[in-house]
Amino acid sequence: MAFDFTGKTVGVTGAAGINGIGFAIARKFLQYGAAVFICDLDEKALSEAETKLREYGTVKAYKVDVSNGQAVSGLFKEAVRDFGYIDVFISNAGIYPQIMVCDMAEEQWDTVMAVNLKSVFLCARECRRVMDRGGVLINASSFAALLGSAGSGAYAASKAAVYNLTKTLAAELAPYQIRTVGYIPGVIETGMTKEVIESREKELTEAIALKRLGKSDDVADAVCFLASDQAAYMTGTFLEISGGKLCVQNPDYAWNQYGKNACGTA
Ligand code: NAP
Repeated sequence: MAFDFTGKTVGVTGAAGINGIGFAIARKFLQYGAAVFICDLDEKALSEAETKLREYGTVKAYKVDVSNGQAVSGLFKEAVRDFGYIDVFISNAGIYPQIMVCDMAEEQWDTVMAVNLKSVFLCARECRRVMDRGGVLINASSFAALLGSAGSGAYAASKAAVYNLTKTLAAELAPYQIRTVGYIPGVIETGMTKEVIESREKELTEAIALKRLGKSDDVADAVCFLASDQAAYMTGTFLEISGGKLCVQNPDYAWNQYGKNACGTA
């Protein structure tokens, strides 16, 4: 599906990682004609991402810690000054510490909640302020929000809260013509999941009906759809991009039981 975002401005947080979902989202929107601004923490990575994205269109990068209210407010002020209006905003930045809940220090817990959850609140508040002709706010949740996640429970809890908050925001922002939706990636090959995939690739892939891990572009396409007019009646809802991860308890059961050619031959 092709989209046309010509004349629109799109902001994406956490977009400095070249293999990351945020970078892929930024690139897709540029390819579909939007002007894009990105933000992230690491100045060097951000500048490299900006240079790469410039091949595709108009882009500007801002160094911002999305867990800091003053920094987020500054980002929106600068982006409006530089671009005039923000049509679509994607709260994508996140961290994924792998540690058992009861082994966490209080500060670690607070950091996960601040980066993954508080940032969504801070960005939504700014969207409400600047999107006075309406817009689309898109938040990154996770498959972990639906199940819980042993070994990364704070992350899962923060993403479950993002899921819930997105629904509330959809209702509260609807009178301002701001649609609020989200995406639920399964296991996508990015910097965030590199270690987990290296140690558990076979097991992770087996739980996926389509039998492959996801790519950042798989998610980016879905996000462009959510932002488009084709999704004009969607608010408070999520797209799951997981290749059918755990859509049944054991994706291979029926094939093993009845054979690969059994389906549709009865
Ligand atoms: P990623 O490549 O690590 O991207 C996340 C980006 O956010 C990184 O560039 C990171 O910078 C940045 N970031 C972290 N803290 C920040 C802060 N305080 N302020 C600004 N930027 C900050 O990970 P990804 O896999 O693309 O994930 C993108 C989103 O999808 C995340 O919200 C993630 O939870 C969600 N998600 C991913 C998967 C998956 O399988 N990959 C699955 C479910 C959900 P640093 O690298 O410097 O920390």
